[in-house]
Amino acid sequence: FVKSSVIEGTQHEEGSDQEAADEKDMLKRELQDERKTLPIYKFRDELLKAVEEYQVIVIVGETGSGKTTQIPQYLHEAGYTAKGKVACTQPRRVAAMSVAARVSQEMGVKLGHEVGYSIRFEDCTSEKTLIKYMTDGMLLREFLGEPDLASYSVVMVDEAHERTLSTDILFGLVKDISRFRPDLKLLISSATLDAEKFSDYFDSAPIFKIPGRRYPVEVHYTKAPEADYIDAAIVTVLQIHVTQPPGDILVFLTGQEEIETIDEILKHRTRGLGTKIAELIICPIYANLPTELQAKIFEPTPEGARKVVLATNIAETSLTIDGIKYVVDPGFCKIKSYNPRTGMESLLINPISKASANQRAGRSGRTGPGKCFRLYTSYNYMHDLEDNTVPEIQRTNLANVVLTLKSLGIHDLVNFDFMDPPPSEALLKALEQLFALSALNSRGELTKTGRRMAEFPLDPMLSKMIVASEKYKCSDEVISVASMLSVGNSIFYRPKDKQVHADNARLNFHTGNVGDHIALLNVYNSWKETDYSTQWCYENYIQVRSMKRARDIRDQLEGLLERVEIEISSNTSDLDAIKKAITSGFFHHSARLQKNGSYRTVKNPQTVFIHPSSGLAQVLPRWVIYHELVLTTKEYMRQVTELKPEWLVEIAPHYYQLKDVDDSGTKKLPKGQGRAAL
Ligand code: ADP
Ligand code: MG
Repeated sequence: FVKSSVIEGTQHEEGSDQEAADEKDMLKRELQDERKTLPIYKFRDELLKAVEEYQVIVIVGETGSGKTTQIPQYLHEAGYTAKGKVACTQPRRVAAMSVAARVSQEMGVKLGHEVGYSIRFEDCTSEKTLIKYMTDGMLLREFLGEPDLASYSVVMVDEAHERTLSTDILFGLVKDISRFRPDLKLLISSATLDAEKFSDYFDSAPIFKIPGRRYPVEVHYTKAPEADYIDAAIVTVLQIHVTQPPGDILVFLTGQEEIETIDEILKHRTRGLGTKIAELIICPIYANLPTELQAKIFEPTPEGARKVVLATNIAETSLTIDGIKYVVDPGFCKIKSYNPRTGMESLLINPISKASANQRAGRSGRTGPGKCFRLYTSYNYMHDLEDNTVPEIQRTNLANVVLTLKSLGIHDLVNFDFMDPPPSEALLKALEQLFALSALNSRGELTKTGRRMAEFPLDPMLSKMIVASEKYKCSDEVISVASMLSVGNSIFYRPKDKQVHADNARLNFHTGNVGDHIALLNVYNSWKETDYSTQWCYENYIQVRSMKRARDIRDQLEGLLERVEIEISSNTSDLDAIKKAITSGFFHHSARLQKNGSYRTVKNPQTVFIHPSSGLAQVLPRWVIYHELVLTTKEYMRQVTELKPEWLVEIAPHYYQLKDVDDSGTKKLPKGQGRAAL
């Protein structure tokens, strides 16, 4: 930046402080100019007038028009924040963080002060916060403490078209409170044009359209279906890089693993291209990517180089990256699916919808004409893709939401004002599950256990495990296990060239075949004993960042234990006590060994396997409980612990009878589900 000599309002600062302040001021001014170039800017006053006039407005505008970053600022400038905070919800935590960071820069304030964000286990707000970006799930939880959202003057439900479970529930709740809070403004904003549905739901709320600038996008299809879309994506990126004029590339992938694979292969292949070919800068973006690396995708591409962004669905509408001219779309995304009959939930790689495909293509035509390379045929597009993605509420386990609604005093779930109601079978299953967990009594009312469980921002099975730890006097250990499980599968690190070392280090925590849950506890406790040493993490092939996150989560769970008046008690020597507490939450997830080394889930029989990364993968105990199922080449149980079958009857007598855990081995399997059918 060019330094100017007189900067208003900063005379009291001196020396390098002064310089830093000057620079910040310059950045702020530059960003202020940039704000005025966004499509939404021309409609600022009109929009504010509409907000004044109507209580609920549906806002529709192309991705990148400035809805998320600008509208909350306009509201702030117009004085709404003097009456209460402005909330803006996002379905994804990365988006909430990234947008909050951007807006705090634009306003020239420190992140967490006037502009902040709140995501699960991370609250970056303060007393001062006026504009609060948050995940939709966090706003849902705020209803528990503040049922009328009294501290807010505006709620903007952003990315409404994503129709996440939390967003759908929020619709019902905010619609309800808007009736007795006429001062509360509601903005429902969406990137797609099916706004009529939102408008109808909110009693014919007016629709405010922000015309976006959009350049033509040339769509290319493959001639035949691709056998391996990962390989096809890599080849396409390299072809674009070598043959096409300047402009950045955006590739849509399904998750972290895919992104890391492609990142590695691209690095390897471009090394061999020689100096005649321009530099290819590879920028990954996914939910678990460390924050400082996330910012990299927004850095302008240096002259002569080309950037390729490897992104999950997050880049479809939540984040806008300037400079993208080419989109590579393999046509898949990861999607949660749930079978209410069996109660099984799984993450699956699925074809995207036509609506998604069009959003993805549109990302290439923001700043000029673009090109989209679809790695599927035009026949696939026309005939195989659904028009729209099914809303999450119709394909997920509802236990968590039912528990939240019950603790908000909403008992009549069947008549809750859903935009699209969930299948009644799924609602019933959720009630059944909560009953089995003793969160609800037989009349469907919240029990003391249920009230305690609702305090934890976790899945009911995890919160039950924590609440049950009181009985087994091991809450200290159980919250460590819960925190480690909540971090996800990023604790152990396995570099390609040191796999044997890494695997040996990992097995050390499994001594005595204690199972994966206790192994996680061992990792946490050993790290704690070294006084949270980073060096120790390196030596043991453990990701220090994940451990720090686990520690943060643990601190919060400890605070919540206090809130529900459960004492911290430690019982490390009694592993059975810890396992019983785990079983109290996860008894639905039990499985029994079959003769061929596979497992069969006890209720709703299904064939599953122990994940190869489990410490018990070679041990094959007769009875196990698992944390989750993942479907890759087979249906795998991840995080597995051995259990004694009689515990099931002892701990969950409503759910298991003795005949379920009869271990004589002669039990007849239901017809068609015997081994011959496997
Ligand atoms: P919309 O919500 O309508 O899709 P946004 O408000 O998210 O639009 O984006 C408006 C502009 O702000 C875009 O040009 C985008 O590139 C820019 N922007 C948003 N977030 C960031 C960020 N974290 N860093 C840099 N630029 C950003
Ligand atoms: Mg947005």
